[in-house]
Amino acid sequence: MHTETKILIIGGGLAGLTAALHLNKMGLIVTLIEKDTYPQHKVCGEYISNEVIPYFKWLGLDIESLAPTFISDLLFTSNLGKSIQTKLPLGGFGLSRYTIDHYLYTELIRRKVSIVHDRVVEINFTNNQFTAVTPNNTFVATYIIGAYGKRSAVDIKLNRSFINKQSPYLAVKAHYKADFPNNLVSLHNFEGGYCGVSKVENDRVNICYLASYERFKKHKNLLAFQENILYKNKYLKNIFENATSLFDAPLTISQISFERKEPVHNHILMIGDTAGLIHPLCGNGMAMAIHAAKIASELLHQRIEGHISSREALEKSYIAHWNREFKSRLKMGRILSSLLRNTKSESLAINVMIKIPFLLNIIIKQTHGKPITISS
Ligand SMILES: Cc1cc2nc3c(=O)[nH]c(=O)nc-3n(C[C@H](O)[C@H](O)[C@H](O)COP(=O)(O)OP(=O)(O)OC[C@H]3O[C@@H](n4cnc5c(N)ncnc54)[C@H](O)[C@@H]3O)c2cc1C
Repeated sequence: MHTETKILIIGGGLAGLTAALHLNKMGLIVTLIEKDTYPQHKVCGEYISNEVIPYFKWLGLDIESLAPTFISDLLFTSNLGKSIQTKLPLGGFGLSRYTIDHYLYTELIRRKVSIVHDRVVEINFTNNQFTAVTPNNTFVATYIIGAYGKRSAVDIKLNRSFINKQSPYLAVKAHYKADFPNNLVSLHNFEGGYCGVSKVENDRVNICYLASYERFKKHKNLLAFQENILYKNKYLKNIFENATSLFDAPLTISQISFERKEPVHNHILMIGDTAGLIHPLCGNGMAMAIHAAKIASELLHQRIEGHISSREALEKSYIAHWNREFKSRLKMGRILSSLLRNTKSESLAINVMIKIPFLLNIIIKQTHGKPITISS
């Protein structure tokens, strides 16, 4: 089969779904390809920064109808039993990916946007147009937005440099029944990783951790790893011992990379994790994915309306906007993660933060953006 479309979005996570909603609102013809079905649980801490609220309102989305929890405070604990709590400058909300991705998807269906469930295996660009190949179809498009997440076989075909570098992290997530304050997100450091805990809708507690794969390998299974390593942090031990899992087994993903990526590759505008994953410790990968979707959609709209003169100018402008908005946040995320990987520097950093608490607020501000404003 052969399908033609003006704009093709590859991947229907938060970035791709948001871009499809935005472009549809602008009256543009768009097709989104997603390999999975909805709803699905995803490995994610599910704390979403309030940065996205004005933009979601502009897109006509009613997040409050999904009954998220409202989160205003951050607790940070160290492996050595120290803790620090602060107000989050902007705050956020807790909502599962199961619910929010499905909601955005149903909104797209309601707005009659074309969604194809298929897996893109290859993308080519020749004679000023793209072809995206799936096992069942070939899509021809003038523009492609890459929103296919952290890593995909497509990256290997595109020969992206990050894909050949080692990705030493494992992530684990499940929902639990547990006693936990609605307004709190807590981050707990352990040897070689950190664990986030916060509430989502329906009184469920999300416990999600990122660990060094090397350290995990030394243990028999997840339970043994948790008991031997995570429980050394007394706060985590207490949380796990008083929580009952609502999943048959936790979800896991590996090969998580925080390497630098390019926001434009082979003329594809990359958004969300496809353009770069911020360390989840910073808690705003989703807001960044949603924000990148907005930037790419606005610029594509301007290009199609003739306000941007060429494809080259579009790509240059996207790279400039992307760098301005996200480059330093990603860098700060990388610095933080390397600090906290090492027990000695972690203990030093946390002691300094406990003595000078406003430092934590500075770090939060450095890794978060401002509420996303709408210009068009
Ligand atoms: C452990 C961990 C905890 C995190 N916690 C938080 C948090 O609390 N708060 C926060 O803001 N961020 C958090 N993040 C980051 C956040 O999860 C991501 O930044 C966010 O999911 C990015 O969305 P996305 O749409 O770019 O990617 P995704 O949500 O991964 O979506 C990509 C989509 O593309 C589809 N796809 C992939 N390949 C193909 C293909 N070839 N063809 C078609 N479809 C394809 C996938 O099925 C998927 O639906 C966390 C990340 C990790 C690893």
